[in-house]
Amino acid sequence: MDPQSIQSIVEEVLQQLGQKQPTLQPNQIPIAVSGRHVHLSEQHLAVLFGESYALKKKNDLSQPNQFAAEETVILSGPRGTIERVRVLGPSRNLTQVEVSQTDAFKLGVKPPIRQSGDIKGSSPVTIIGPKGSVYLTEGLIIAQAHIHMSPDDADRFQVKDGQYVQVTTGTERPITFGRVLIRVSPSYRLEMHIDTDEANAGFIRTGQIGELIIAGQAAPSPSPVMVQEVKHASTVFEGKLLTQHDVQQSAESVIQVRKSTIVTPLAKDTARDLSKKIEVIDK
Ligand SMILES: [Zn+2]
Repeated sequence: MDPQSIQSIVEEVLQQLGQKQPTLQPNQIPIAVSGRHVHLSEQHLAVLFGESYALKKKNDLSQPNQFAAEETVILSGPRGTIERVRVLGPSRNLTQVEVSQTDAFKLGVKPPIRQSGDIKGSSPVTIIGPKGSVYLTEGLIIAQAHIHMSPDDADRFQVKDGQYVQVTTGTERPITFGRVLIRVSPSYRLEMHIDTDEANAGFIRTGQIGELIIAGQAAPSPSPVMVQEVKHASTVFEGKLLTQHDVQQSAESVIQVRKSTIVTPLAKDTARDLSKKIEVIDK
């Protein structure tokens, strides 16, 4: 075995030892917050940092082979600039810049929400490095919230690559993400990625846990027929998901939910603590 292979195995083992995996319930997913960052093509890396420049690894990212580089760039838009924007490695085929909506306001652009890699028709941006600058006519996006997972995880959650699901958080300011993209690859490690605006909205920090709600359990659309069928519609909780917050807010001592409504473990615990009953009704 050559010294480099040994080195990489040692690094991998050390990394695994250092990673304290939280014990996850079957529907739980660890969340990581992505700060603004830039992926560079080889060509743009050369323009910004010089010919044959190699990025220096600052630290590994959670997804295998991805790393944060020592290098940073400046982003410039019609309204302002943002300094010290982290470059991620390794180089990609296309240069792509991922920012939050707050960043976009500062730059003075209106990027679309996109899956990574889908940059056609996205916003223009100027990237400034120590050796030169690049004007991109497109390449600036706000990243779609997504979950990386292995095929085994996908089987376990019964989801497919490209599917959208909901994820709810049990944070101090609980929120539910309504459109989270599933991305499946043998090289992925289970983790949900959100941007800093999304994290701030929900008081979420990297390492916190979200609960996955499988898509396709749409709330019944209100129709006159439905209302006639259910006599005491006002007392039935109609949401797709009953959370701790819902239980706390409910004025009812018996909270009626439909069969299709998912009750989170925290909601159950809270109901017990508050001596409320959660009753599943068939209709
Ligand atoms: Zn990601």
